[in-house]
Amino acid sequence: MSGILQTVSCLDGYDPDALRVDKAIEAIKACLTPISQTETVPVREALGRILAQEIVPDIDVPAHDNSAMDGYAVRSTDLSEKETTLEEIGVALAGKPFHGAVGRGQCARVMTGAVMPQGADAVVIQEVVKRDGKRVVVPPGQKKGQNVRYAGEDLAVGKPVLHPGAWLRPAEIGLIASLGIGEVQVKRRLRVAFFATGDELASIGTKLKEGEIYDSNRYTLHGMLSRLGVEITDLGVIRDQPDLLEGAFLKAAGSADVVVTTGGVSVGEADFIKQLMAKLGEVLFWKIAMRPGRPMAFGRIGNAFLFGLPGNPVAVMVTFYQFVRDALLHLSGRTDDYAVPLLRVLAGEKLRKVPGRTEYQRGILYREGGEWKVRTTGQQGSGVLRSMSEANCFIVLEHERGSVAAGEPVAVQLMEGLA
Ligand code: AMP
Ligand code: MG
Repeated sequence: MSGILQTVSCLDGYDPDALRVDKAIEAIKACLTPISQTETVPVREALGRILAQEIVPDIDVPAHDNSAMDGYAVRSTDLSEKETTLEEIGVALAGKPFHGAVGRGQCARVMTGAVMPQGADAVVIQEVVKRDGKRVVVPPGQKKGQNVRYAGEDLAVGKPVLHPGAWLRPAEIGLIASLGIGEVQVKRRLRVAFFATGDELASIGTKLKEGEIYDSNRYTLHGMLSRLGVEITDLGVIRDQPDLLEGAFLKAAGSADVVVTTGGVSVGEADFIKQLMAKLGEVLFWKIAMRPGRPMAFGRIGNAFLFGLPGNPVAVMVTFYQFVRDALLHLSGRTDDYAVPLLRVLAGEKLRKVPGRTEYQRGILYREGGEWKVRTTGQQGSGVLRSMSEANCFIVLEHERGSVAAGEPVAVQLMEGLA
């Protein structure tokens, strides 16, 4: 397939027949340019979207120095090393400032969030004072500035707070709202079209004929794509027929930024699917040194990127999580570090592995004697989708590594957070 390799210029220098996982990730990233189109949405609808503008406060948050506690606003210079008796001259509530000034020997009652009365520079919490009418007795040990929140200590005028490429979580939505901003510019959603191939695939609602299986990959793919917040077009199951497949590829590539297919890329698969992909665009067929998920196609058809994922139900999920997820987030315009962290835990049992490929064994993370350990879900066949359901993590066994003895540290990638 080296002839095809040469036509995919961004993939120059990568050996498609023995590609390491890290090289495949690098090769994919080298080809991708994030989308540039944006749209303006109300701030609540921006949840999960990717910011396309800089957010620069034009107000301080909080706007005024204010009390962090319920208590008494005092002048710290009035306080002595013994008890100090002050005279309460007014009350400041949140949203109802006290307009007088606190003079020598005076204090003002303040509630949390109330603007600090003029003259006062500390708040003494109500629990420690003794009161007698308007006389307030303050114990020693109070410090200037205590229990005061200063104007701009959260967000300050002119100091950029969010940058283009930020992923907008509930905290960012609140932050934007705290500035009084009602609409934000975000990247448009990435459009992803997908379909499954295979003559053996039956759709839900039909009775299985001999040799058929229900198509599950379109459902796992739909789920994984939904969680990434992309716009999805499901083109269904396409029979292994050149004309139908060609139509599906062209339709998908004509309307989407990314086309994801499942099935048809394995060695034993009818070659015409590969020939077709290669005819329609610049597509490279990879044998990735990984398990599960060795075969994968990557390239372009028209303006769309193509990920031809394997058909085996576990392989499609593993290749999606290890290659497609990050590619889609990058294309969507995310600039934060969205890599799912690898944790080091102890193997709770012996793990069989051969050097020369990266393995993603399905694991169950558990705690034993205060220590996090991991064991496999058992049967690791790439058709055993149950292993993905039972797992809460991937045990990532690195390329060079051989079998792992019980008690050795291994890397795990939590599935929660992958999407
Ligand atoms: P393929 O990559 O097309 O050679 O398929 C590899 C294996 O995955 C075969 O056992 C297929 O029956 C199975 N498979 C392919 N597509 C799907 C699908 N959409 N849902 C469930 N299993 C599938
Ligand atoms: Mg097939």
